[in-house]
Amino acid sequence: MSVAESEKELSVYESMAARFDVAARKLNLDEGLCHYLRMPNREIIVHIPVMLDSGKLAVFDGYRVQHSIARGPCKGGVRFSPHVTLDEMRGLAAEMTWKCAVVNIPFGGAKGGVVCDPAKLSQGELERITRRYTAEILDYIGPERDVPAPDMNTNEQTMAWIMDTYSMHVRHTVTASVTGKPLDLGGSRGRRAATGRGCMIATDQALKRFGWKREATRVIIQGFGNVGSQAARLMHEAGYRIIGVADIGGGIFNTHGLDIAQLIEYVKEHRTVRGFPGGESIGPQEILEQDCEVLLPAATESVINSKNARKIKARILSEGANSPTTPPADDILFERGVFVIPDILANSGGVTVSYFEWVQDRQGYFWPEGMVNERLKHIMVNAFNDVVGYGERHNVNNRIAAYMLAIDRVAFSIKLRGIYA
Ligand code: NAD
Repeated sequence: MSVAESEKELSVYESMAARFDVAARKLNLDEGLCHYLRMPNREIIVHIPVMLDSGKLAVFDGYRVQHSIARGPCKGGVRFSPHVTLDEMRGLAAEMTWKCAVVNIPFGGAKGGVVCDPAKLSQGELERITRRYTAEILDYIGPERDVPAPDMNTNEQTMAWIMDTYSMHVRHTVTASVTGKPLDLGGSRGRRAATGRGCMIATDQALKRFGWKREATRVIIQGFGNVGSQAARLMHEAGYRIIGVADIGGGIFNTHGLDIAQLIEYVKEHRTVRGFPGGESIGPQEILEQDCEVLLPAATESVINSKNARKIKARILSEGANSPTTPPADDILFERGVFVIPDILANSGGVTVSYFEWVQDRQGYFWPEGMVNERLKHIMVNAFNDVVGYGERHNVNNRIAAYMLAIDRVAFSIKLRGIYA
């Protein structure tokens, strides 16, 4: 059971809708348009039959929710988790629309997932789930329609299977059908680290506003998967002091700073940060409440909620995960003067480099890593300044500013296109 459920806080969709309503009201958005933008364009539910290694037939529920195509094809991750729900997909798909609009790239939002526990499945079973899921949603995806990407418990290999399945059906190789692929199959240089790098770029901008130096900045990171480990590695290399890291198995804490390169090696072997000898052990929730300058949640949603928001000591919250903070917690953090870099800005580096990957695949021309990172920085710095500037001009917090900016951009595209009847 997630924290949101146990506390009867808002669901992922309800959280998105609550923020959307505040932003839409402030924008004086037309009522009909408001209704249209609040709901997804399309929701696909599939039931995936898969032969398990045991010879037993199992059926898994899968979803793909497409929120908006107003500014371009849909874009969004596919997650494998026992906690996937249609409500979660709805909320995250809409957030993808706002995220793409915040960084001003020509995509709308989507999200997909399969209700399964990857820890209990073999590689062969995961491959069969992925391929059948892809086949079930095939008519609705593709480079011009909807482009999946990795998310929780999915990775480059999953994307290679989706790309291959799609390509086999359309009878030619379509590398632009997914992003986050292996480099050898048309992936982009810099994609693997892009979300973590984006978090660092956004955090750097916040530091500038505070006049702080990286070396004097203590960082705590919850989640040590793709986003958390890459953010930790890059921030450590850039001079930040990473004093705490946690994953689902436990956490590790050292006020003098953790050796992230060693921690990455440790995790390769032990599959968790728990037990790393370079620090003291700490719980994955408890770690959020420790004294630090920057807190970077990079695990799962609703971890910062009305129960613990008052105990958060960080001055900057850089949201690597999607929806890590509930709306009631938002209000508490705002009251307490925490500078929040909202998820749709802080973790938009991944979708930005996914956009670069899609562009490169369509051109068949691949960029060096330096160019990818430089263009990512350019987009992220502009987006950060757009959001923070918008918030200052309209006297709203960064989250509502990001929503207002994004909704305004999407609404403008819809007005230009008109409503097809
Ligand atoms: P991942 O599966 O690679 O890693 C998730 C990490 O979080 C793991 O270390 C896991 O142990 C940890 N975790 C899970 N539940 C936890 C809990 N309750 N407490 C502490 N740790 C917990 O996933 P990822 O790709 O790194 O994504 C993490 C978050 O970032 C998700 O919210 C995802 O939607 C978001 N995100 C990912 C990307 C991307 O490019 N991968 C882009 C944007 C946003």
